[in-house]
Amino acid sequence: MKPFKLVINGSLVETSEYFDVLNPADKSVVARCPKATEADLNNAVAAANTAFESWSALDISERRELLLKLADVVEDKAEEFKTLLTKEQGKPLQGFANLGAGFEFEGTLNWIRTTANFDIKPKIIEDNDTVRIELHRKPLGVVGSITPWNYPLLISIWHIIPALLAGNTVVMKPSEMTPLTMLRFGEVAQEILPPGVLNIVTGAGELGALISSHEDIQKIVFTGSTPTGKAIMKSASGNLKRLTLELGGNDAGIVLDDVNVDDIAEKIFASAFINNGQTCAALKRLYVHESVYDEMCNALTKIATSMKNGNGMDKDTDLGPLQNEQQLNIVKELAEDAKQRGATFLCGGEVVDEKGYFYPPTLVSNIEDGAKLVDIEQFGPILPIIKFHDVEDAIASANRLGVGLGGSVWSQDLIKAQRVASRMQCGTVWINSHAAVLPIAPFGGVKDSGFGVEFGEEGLNEYTSVHTIHIYK
Ligand code: NDP
Repeated sequence: MKPFKLVINGSLVETSEYFDVLNPADKSVVARCPKATEADLNNAVAAANTAFESWSALDISERRELLLKLADVVEDKAEEFKTLLTKEQGKPLQGFANLGAGFEFEGTLNWIRTTANFDIKPKIIEDNDTVRIELHRKPLGVVGSITPWNYPLLISIWHIIPALLAGNTVVMKPSEMTPLTMLRFGEVAQEILPPGVLNIVTGAGELGALISSHEDIQKIVFTGSTPTGKAIMKSASGNLKRLTLELGGNDAGIVLDDVNVDDIAEKIFASAFINNGQTCAALKRLYVHESVYDEMCNALTKIATSMKNGNGMDKDTDLGPLQNEQQLNIVKELAEDAKQRGATFLCGGEVVDEKGYFYPPTLVSNIEDGAKLVDIEQFGPILPIIKFHDVEDAIASANRLGVGLGGSVWSQDLIKAQRVASRMQCGTVWINSHAAVLPIAPFGGVKDSGFGVEFGEEGLNEYTSVHTIHIYK
């Protein structure tokens, strides 16, 4: 099996050490991944710094054209990318509701194309007889991107494309659990992008901290856990790096008393179990009004028990394995605590297939705030369903945790739903939907879910600094 290579300064670079990347469906080795040294990282950063001069000098329309070409070249390799994604991440090629590798891949193309078509124009703040004040936006320099294992391709694109469009160059480090798709993406990108504009380094243990503390990197964009986000803030302080930190959450969904359960059950299930629950903005705590509680539990159970767990390469697989053992153990531990508290397991709750990191779709009722499964982000295929009597209590429950990424309200009365939504402490609230992120709509967290936004004009602006010019006439 040929090992993958780092992508530095337009070249594929071998390393002296490699590590295995496992297929979470059967723990077999997918491929060997290069372990970058500090010297490799320094070479990547130096190349990105050199490339910055000419890349940032291009007109934005020239950078746009190259990024759109990149989308076309990647699209030509659709089958290869989707297969690699399934093998290293575990998600099914197709999956239930078509939310598998195909969904991530199509989202990737859509994101590149939509984002590449954004513009950065000077803004005139004042223009009178005596003075004209113009606000320009300048790229920052080298951006360090550190991405997780749940959407290895899509989340990397969320970081890379706005950074490049704005005129920055990038050194990125994909998760060591799922590095292959992005190493291949980086290799393909070298056909289109000038050397040094996009560099990919892989490794584990200390590479991340070397990136976040690197004096020649101007900004870090990170998607991952809150503790690591806090560690990044510390190590990024040396040269006052700008930061965008998307740190996940524990999203609540509130189902009001007037819903038609049959109309929304499938959508709620998909919002919670998308990517096996390993989604930053998945619905992770479901609060349901007592008048529709039993009906909702029954409808969700019917859907959950119809799901087929299996290897993502099999066409009829609805849900694959969890991506890694650590995450499987978190899910098991939260389930165990719920069992000990006497919660009701409507389905799932026991590992039945140990050849990979499988956990069946699991629904838990008769559970309350304070249980670990409610209070700690599960990031897996297990959903607590909590009964409420008074909507004020549901709002208080939704807001009581230290995180705030997304939330949702489900109701036929849009005015009432909007009143509830406006009181939820999170970056995005959906009404009659959840986890539906779009390249045009800014997305980010409050509280321990991080700061800074991605997507839309606001997201693009995060890769720039303001340059104000006062012209006295
Ligand atoms: P982490 O959030 O701990 O992130 C790991 C990544 O951060 C690695 O690439 C690591 O690189 C890097 N890193 C660690 N320390 C630093 C540092 N000081 N500076 C820069 N980079 C650093 O991920 P885990 O995989 O451990 O997941 C933990 C939890 O995070 C999950 O259980 C889940 O709840 C949540 N999560 C949230 C996601 C989201 O989308 N928001 C995605 C994935 C997980 P290195 O080892 O080289 O240092």
